[in-house]
Amino acid sequence: MKSLNLYDERDIRFEESPEPVIEQADDVIVRVKAVGICGSDLSRYKKLGPYVEGMTFGHEFAGEIAAVGAGVEDIKVGDRVAGCPTYYCGKCLSCQKGELSRCEKLTVIGARHPGAYAEYVKLPAAHIVPLPDHVDYDTAALIEPSSVVAHGFYRTTIQPGAEVAIMGCGSIGLLSIQWAKIFGAKKVYAVDIDETKLEVAKQVGADVLINSLEKPAHEQILDYTNGQGVDLAVESAGSPITSAQVFALPKKGGEVVFMGIPYADIHIERFYFERIVRNELRVLGSWNAISAPFPGREWRSSVHYMSTGQINVKPMISHQLDLKEGPETFEHLVNRRGSYVKVLFYPERG
Ligand SMILES: [Zn+2]
Ligand SMILES: [Zn+2]
Repeated sequence: MKSLNLYDERDIRFEESPEPVIEQADDVIVRVKAVGICGSDLSRYKKLGPYVEGMTFGHEFAGEIAAVGAGVEDIKVGDRVAGCPTYYCGKCLSCQKGELSRCEKLTVIGARHPGAYAEYVKLPAAHIVPLPDHVDYDTAALIEPSSVVAHGFYRTTIQPGAEVAIMGCGSIGLLSIQWAKIFGAKKVYAVDIDETKLEVAKQVGADVLINSLEKPAHEQILDYTNGQGVDLAVESAGSPITSAQVFALPKKGGEVVFMGIPYADIHIERFYFERIVRNELRVLGSWNAISAPFPGREWRSSVHYMSTGQINVKPMISHQLDLKEGPETFEHLVNRRGSYVKVLFYPERG
């Protein structure tokens, strides 16, 4: 089958790989209909991290069931599904406490298990998320990033009527805008330095667009909120700069949740660090997207809100490509060439 395999730093290849076969009674094989590029794929492409040479990567996908093991009962060939790509160990202390996203051995397909940049991908049946008929494959391919965002929001204490600022309007930020509304936000401020991304932020429901190149984000937010700040600020840019600046956005007693991962040291200027202390902020980390019972309410809620249209990923999809365009697309992305938001591949097209 056609696949994209990772060999080395900035070396992915479009090539033939063996098709997965059913080995365990609970194995399920999915014919991949759409698979997205994740920010974490890009950092793996640049810096590797845990991987096996020649491994098929990619983990944000949806498709159709192609085969099931003998022990699989409620899933049948032809079913439309998405899949949770994350494995937990089930044995460590966090797993025993039901805190699955804190598992010591958390791993995602595309690292140690073959991933979804391929015509077929294999997962245990417990990872399969059935789709209602009217949730299409493009939408469902974003169930993993949507669940990552939902996981972060479940960590917060957001209440209906809240004002929320989203720092960074890539895929995670654009989904955060929509989840903020689902969690009851009355007003969502979208912050970015890229006008194209701010335009998409508006299309997915942001109420106020803030270009932080013009004036620091916190000054603009304070103007809009009578000098108070927001109830919740989401760091979704994953940059060392915004990871410090985000502390100036919440009101006293407000919250910050980190959903981005800056792959660099963060230097926090005194002004921003003091906001944590003086404003008595609650600062929350958020990792992955799974919870008990596995895969968790993040996934069930994502499917639900995708089916109602409250999560609309269509404006986020900037590129719809063949798998063979993978190697050049990854190079464009690391060189920041072109205006990419979410890239989807269609492995069946080749
Ligand atoms: Zn992802
Ligand atoms: Zn564990």
